[in-house]
Amino acid sequence: MSSRDAEWVGIDPAWRAGATLTLVFLLALASLLGAPPGLLLGLGVAAGAAGGWTLAGIRGERRRREISERRLQESARTAEDIIAAIPSGLVGLDDTGAVCRWNEGATRILGMGRGGMIGQHVDRWPIDGQRGLAALLRDALDGRTVTRGSLDVTRTDGRTLPLGISTSCLAGSGGRGTGAVAVFQDLTEARKLRSRMRQQERLAAVGALAASIAHEIRNPLASIAGSVELLAADLPLTGEHRILMDLILKESDRLNLLITDFLDFTRERRPQPKPLDPTLLLKEALRLIRQRPEADEQLKLTLSNDGAPAVIEADPGMLRQVCLNLLLNACEAVDWEGRLTVSARGAQGISGEEELVVQFRDDGPGVPPEARGRLFEPFFTTKTGGTGLGLAIAHRIVEMHGGQLELLEEAGPGSVFELRLPARARSEEDLPEGVVQATENTV
Ligand code: ADP
Ligand code: MG
Repeated sequence: MSSRDAEWVGIDPAWRAGATLTLVFLLALASLLGAPPGLLLGLGVAAGAAGGWTLAGIRGERRRREISERRLQESARTAEDIIAAIPSGLVGLDDTGAVCRWNEGATRILGMGRGGMIGQHVDRWPIDGQRGLAALLRDALDGRTVTRGSLDVTRTDGRTLPLGISTSCLAGSGGRGTGAVAVFQDLTEARKLRSRMRQQERLAAVGALAASIAHEIRNPLASIAGSVELLAADLPLTGEHRILMDLILKESDRLNLLITDFLDFTRERRPQPKPLDPTLLLKEALRLIRQRPEADEQLKLTLSNDGAPAVIEADPGMLRQVCLNLLLNACEAVDWEGRLTVSARGAQGISGEEELVVQFRDDGPGVPPEARGRLFEPFFTTKTGGTGLGLAIAHRIVEMHGGQLELLEEAGPGSVFELRLPARARSEEDLPEGVVQATENTV
């Protein structure tokens, strides 16, 4: 069709109706004035054709309108689908400040369903711990936006999480604000990962320096201890002198043990995974605790293993070390007079693989908030005479197995450390670098 034809066909149906009416009017006038039949026939045919042309125009117009409405609906649906599918949370306000958008991500992150939030006014946000988010939305509505900001919010289940957030103001015609949008992500995992990486770096630097110092101390210490032992055997010491000599011997033994443990801690060793029954391993670790001289009937030990995998692949010596370190800390936290509960179960990891989950719970005083972030740092201790290596060693061993060890954030007295290990050993390439071995003494 030529462009001129297109113009012709595209004439507005109203003009077409006008032309038809004019022809009908002329036909009526001509017949009243007694025009010759040839003219009347001509006018009649022209009016009929114009009527058909008008009808075709109306039908075409209706079809065009239907198509554009369908397109509009489809693009609105696509926009809704995109908003629903993005993993970030998205909350939108209309120009009155009422919530008009709340996607699945927002429900997952904030714990509050879309049903309860659509229509809520930003100034009457129903969840106390999310008022900061509401304030940012209100600011955005007034044109004050944030880019890559962060804030803490409390979910409806009481859990507090850090959010990464950006807000924007929706500008309508004439620059007037027609609403506001906030897009946010849960930063919990990203923060954990960053702190774990920072800790790994610190550990590597501290480890290398301290290991070389420990080596340097070990040799003169061996000469001193050897010489003192000879003196102790040869000299006829009595009274105060005997006590002092025994003290030197005892303390040099202790120093030697500490240095040996530390060098073991920094020595590289890959785990050698073997199939093992985790319940048996936990029973064995609990038996070792029971046999400690400090443990009497005031110490209550409980093990539950409902749903624990029958077999996992892990390095038995290393895993026993992890359990002993956690159990000893728990015993020390309750001063050897309290309740320790160890519960093992099976679970599914993030990528669907089977996991062993063990929780070590005690009813001691718990970990003070200021210590929480430093627990797994080497040499961090709050105990006189503590080495601060127990949790650092346990953490490294668990990481080497591709698992996780963390202090659960739980309300109430006591602490819960949770250990998660893949039931099947990971291949070497999948495991983190920087391998460390600990001996049984370092608990
Ligand atoms: P250490 O036991 O030598 O102090 P760890 O690395 O085993 O070193 O523990 C580090 C610190 O973590 C402890 O000094 C203590 O403050 C804290 N901690 C560990 N386990 C517990 C627990 N179950 N309850 C309370 N605090 C704990
Ligand atoms: Mg310890």
